[in-house]
Amino acid sequence: MSDKALEIKGLKTYFNTPSGVAKAVDGVSFSINRGETFALVGESGCGKSVTSLSVIQLVPEPAGFIADGEILLNGEDIISMKEADKRRIRGNKISMIFQEPMTSLNPVFTIGSQIVEPIMLHQGKTKAEAREIAIGMLAKVGLPEPGKLFSVYPHTLSGGMMQRVMIAIALACRPDLLIADEPTTALDVTIEAQILELMKELQRELGTAIMLITHNMALVYRNAEHVAVMYAGKIVETASTKTLFRNPLHPYTIQLLRAIPEMGNRDRPLETIPGSVPPATDFPDGCRFSGRCSREMAGCAAREPRPILKADGHLVSCHLYDPEFISTQASRPLHTEGKAPEPISTPPMERSPLLDVKGLKKHYPIRKGLFKRIVGYNKAVNGIDLEIRRGSTLALVGESGSGKTTAGKAIIQLIRPTTGTVRFSGNILTDLSDTELKPYKSNTQIIFQNPYSSLNPRMMIGEIIEEGIRSLKPEIPVRERKQKVRETIERVGLTEEMLRRYPHEFSGGQRQRIGIARVLAVEPEFIVCDEAVSALDVSVQAQILNLLKSIQRDFGISYLFITHDLGVVEYIADEVAVMYGGKIVERGTVEEIFKTPKHEYTKTLLNAVPRIEKGEKEYDGESAR
Ligand code: SF4
Repeated sequence: MSDKALEIKGLKTYFNTPSGVAKAVDGVSFSINRGETFALVGESGCGKSVTSLSVIQLVPEPAGFIADGEILLNGEDIISMKEADKRRIRGNKISMIFQEPMTSLNPVFTIGSQIVEPIMLHQGKTKAEAREIAIGMLAKVGLPEPGKLFSVYPHTLSGGMMQRVMIAIALACRPDLLIADEPTTALDVTIEAQILELMKELQRELGTAIMLITHNMALVYRNAEHVAVMYAGKIVETASTKTLFRNPLHPYTIQLLRAIPEMGNRDRPLETIPGSVPPATDFPDGCRFSGRCSREMAGCAAREPRPILKADGHLVSCHLYDPEFISTQASRPLHTEGKAPEPISTPPMERSPLLDVKGLKKHYPIRKGLFKRIVGYNKAVNGIDLEIRRGSTLALVGESGSGKTTAGKAIIQLIRPTTGTVRFSGNILTDLSDTELKPYKSNTQIIFQNPYSSLNPRMMIGEIIEEGIRSLKPEIPVRERKQKVRETIERVGLTEEMLRRYPHEFSGGQRQRIGIARVLAVEPEFIVCDEAVSALDVSVQAQILNLLKSIQRDFGISYLFITHDLGVVEYIADEVAVMYGGKIVERGTVEEIFKTPKHEYTKTLLNAVPRIEKGEKEYDGESAR
């Protein structure tokens, strides 16, 4: 038997859409060896997930279809198999873990029945045998009391536990290939580290090949042996992980890596990739990255680059590495590569605090029984002290359930705290009635994680932004209000014409800009950013972080940045407060927290974060030419 668990040759997966044929995956080839982790990276809309759906033969029909290519699992072509054989392979030889365990587990069946079913179906085991295997598997993924867990329903488990159950289900039949599509995106870093370690352990034991789909480059760096970078339906670069991170060649890979926020680039804007991935119905004839590429040459848009093999199996599809193309007139640079972004001149920090929080608590009563008697309290926030200076950023970090969001909402009085004081610009907000609070609402705003759900789908963008001003600053006359809307939309890098469009017409990054515009329009002094960039691709995230920094520089706004992404914290924050169990366990400047953490929990948190080692990211793409 060959070493290859999976081999994909010239795969083309297309979709019939009202605007034409969408070539979501357009001639992709790669292979994964047994016991190896192979990562597929790239922005949303590049074809990563459609590739995985093609492998597991779940391309949504009738719109989607495999137009060409071969998918060989252990040398056997899956595409030409009968439907019954495909079903036999799914869940048995190939398993998949999705991003959202909450939506993948069936809420009306117990954990046990969901894990036993595939074992009985695919391995022909009796119920008793399957139960024994299932309990063993639940124990293997580190779940406590697997026997008891067998009969509970999914909703009683935390996100991390549910993802472990999903892994147990996926590995119960000892598959040859495990597809993990953003398996840890919804999880905290410490749980993420545990889950990935667990996958590695099981991989070592069972020899499973793992196809890891993610937009998190640091995760790839730490976990994969090989990487393929996908762009607009094609693989543009593939290499061993070490080689790719040490010497990325394709301009897209280089630009993706440069967009990652970290300590080293906090004094300058992040590099961004202009524009967005072209629609799959309308890919350019030549290089699909043309138009966004900082190294574009005159002939790039007209001629499609061919794969060029460099040393150590490093394959790149870019004319820069094609001697034949370089020797032609067409290789004239179209534009000189932009200089490295200028450092941000940060204004000297004012000493006076804008916000002073003392002893803030938010306790929720726990009620039980027929008469809903209070039997205890959930102490979501349990006595925190914070200070935020004007024009500065305080990051609040910690795992889910540590109380970060509740604290953010209680500070701006979106929910009223149980006790404690919040002094804002000299006024004690916690002493004010709801009516008295109204004038402060425009000064203290919040940006949420999900731009999709926070915009009313029935309102045009202009109306959404204007509504905020109308309700919070009714004294502003109509003409001035409309002018403010126009100025704000341009401030966030969008155009006036977009004011007459609806939220569904925008990408995730654009919607987040709209969310920011809505908040900015009321001219706040303080903004709570609650996981505001967590759902975005690294390229879009870089644009939003740059935007937030430039707004801070221009208007002196202060941020409370709630996030679980410590790279973002290193880049944007001046100070950090680490929350655990409703309390702040450590506070300090970014340097203090990241370089000399004192509290054990902070140390655990920092250790769990996957990082691209310094000295390995010395890339300019030139060296290989
Ligand atoms: Fe950039 Fe040209 Fe290479 Fe495409 S072929 S990535 S446009 S340099």
